[in-house]
Amino acid sequence: MAHPKTERTLVIVKPDGIQRALIGEIVKRYERLGLKLAAIKMLVPTEEMIEGHYLLDPNWKKNVGAKAIESYEKKDETPPSSDPIEVANLVVERLKKYMTSGPVIAMVWEGAHAVELVRKITGGTEPRSAGIGTIRGDFVVDSYQMADSDNRAIRNLIHASGSVPEAEMEIPHWFSPKEVINYRVPHEATLYDADIKSILG
Ligand code: ADP
Ligand code: MG
Repeated sequence: MAHPKTERTLVIVKPDGIQRALIGEIVKRYERLGLKLAAIKMLVPTEEMIEGHYLLDPNWKKNVGAKAIESYEKKDETPPSSDPIEVANLVVERLKKYMTSGPVIAMVWEGAHAVELVRKITGGTEPRSAGIGTIRGDFVVDSYQMADSDNRAIRNLIHASGSVPEAEMEIPHWFSPKEVINYRVPHEATLYDADIKSILG
């Protein structure tokens, strides 16, 4: 089995993240954890790229719909539809508009538990209920209600792969193998080597 330090995850700074001038802030969060940037580029995505991205995982539709419905029910409110797939179809259309509205920055971050730790730092899908200290919780205000009433996607600054299999499908969707770079940085020795040697000479 590959060492956990080789785990990779896809992060996209969404159009609102670029407009809010939060690129540096977002990169800093993952970088200071000890993760390593393996790929980065700026582009304006096409609708096909966005639809393809969100439909890579056959379960995504069911999950995104169920999450929205659950969030309404938690607040004793009625969701726009009780059918998760119907909700998801709406979300895909809204995401195509949102994610193609301007430039985004796609990145691959690498390191132990990269997928899980990037999600932890990024926070939950809905900024309103995302945890304190997370990027989505600290830097933006959106909610399911606001997004639904304006018929738009939730603006939450970032995409981050939700699981290792999702990351493994998403990275090649955005980057050719040549664009993802294998290299070393010195602090990896301190993070990962079984023995810390050579500090005192
Ligand atoms: P995450 O980005 O946290 O993994 P999902 O994969 O469930 O979330 O959804 C993808 C993106 O779709 C979200 O980040 C958000 O921008 C948007 N979104 C999700 N659910 C809704 C919804 N019910 N209404 C509007 N936009 C949504
Ligand atoms: Mg997701």
